[in-house]
This record gives sequence, C-alpha cells and structure tokens, in this order.
Amino acid sequence: MVLRGCPVCSRGAWAFEPLSDSYFGEWRRWGFPYAPEDFETLNVRDYACPSCHSPDRDRMCAIWIGRRAVRTGSLLDVGPSPSLAGFLRTRFDYLSLDAIRDADVRGDVQELTYSADSFDAFVCSHVLEHVPDDRRALAELRRVLRPDGWGIVMVPVCLAAPSIDEDGGVDEATAWRRFGQGDHVRLYDRAGFLERLAEAGFQLEEWRPRMFDRLRYGLARGSVLYVVK
Ligand SMILES: [Zn+2]
Repeated sequence: MVLRGCPVCSRGAWAFEPLSDSYFGEWRRWGFPYAPEDFETLNVRDYACPSCHSPDRDRMCAIWIGRRAVRTGSLLDVGPSPSLAGFLRTRFDYLSLDAIRDADVRGDVQELTYSADSFDAFVCSHVLEHVPDDRRALAELRRVLRPDGWGIVMVPVCLAAPSIDEDGGVDEATAWRRFGQGDHVRLYDRAGFLERLAEAGFQLEEWRPRMFDRLRYGLARGSVLYVVK
C-alpha cells in the first residue's frame, strides 16, 4: 500500500476526488466527439486533492519543481491556479498575471509588458487554449525568459484529434462542440502542440511520472509534463 499524498499542499490523502460528470454531460449535450480518456494528463477518477483541490496537472508541476528545478529566482505564473499559486509563492519571487481573473497583475500573455530576459521561470498551464494567437503568446514567453531559465507549458492535449482545430470567431455552442469548452478557441492534438513549442524556439523536455508517483500522487498512466527551456 502506497501512502498517498498531495505534493501541492503536502497533506495526506486517502483518496483524490473524481472530476464531476456534469462537465462531460456538457460534452454530450453539445456533441463534442471525444471522451475524457482521449485526453492526456487528465485523471478523471483521482482528479482533485480533497484538501487544496489541486488537479492532477498541478500535482505534476509541484513534483517536478520540488525535485528538479532550481527553486529560487523570479517566476511568472500566467493564468494562476489558486492551489498551485500558494505552492509557487513560497518558493519563488512570484508574480501572477491574468487577462480576466484575479492575479497580481492584469495582463495579456500575447503582449507582455516586461523586457527581454526578465524571468528565471514561468508556468503557463491551461491558458493557451483560451488565447486567440497562441504562437504570439509562446513567442512572448520565450522573449521574457532568461536564456538559462525554464518554463512549464500545459494545455489540454486530445490524443485522438488528428490535428489542431482552431477558430477564435465561433459562438459558444460551436466552441463546446469543436473544442470541448465554451471559452476555448482551439483543440490541440499532441503533434500540433509540440510543433508550436518548437516554432517558438523552445527546447522541450517531457517528464513522465513513474508508477510509484502515479500511485502515490493520483496521476494517470501516460501523463506528461511539458518543460521548456
Ligand atoms: Zn493538496
């Protein structure tokens, strides 16, 4: 028996909470053609920490940062997740940025106001699928990152999708049907996502948790954390 716990809030967890089926009910309602198991790094059954509510993708970030990264310096958190923000704030000279929701500063990742080489690290998780020009956003993140810095970029990756499907001009019903959420502007396949990271000039390192970590921290088989440098 593996002792289970949450790397974001450091509390023990006998069980992680499943992702509500009401979300997938919306998929069925609007005719989205993919299933939850088509998505990478989405542990539907063991989704959220019962204490801090961090989803499995945030737990992946916390494990990687806890073990691998230089845990000092400045970090820009684009579209912060509340639980992970608490974890990051205690470890870095931390600044969060969001275009709409609460954050330290209001800003647009497609047009960052910081000079080149301003940050030692960044986290941009589940943001780019909302952003009209994700190429420009990635170029901006590359610009403000120091040459020896690192970043974590996560998006919903649909392993069953044949290519990236995108359109910023569709109505909400169409966005649900094509992208799986009313405020998304695209659906990524894996190859298309990797291509956009490469186009921005990033070197990619994929971190895949081993079985012990999967059992202990409630991560799905095949989960991938995308670390860029
Ligand atoms: Zn937690």
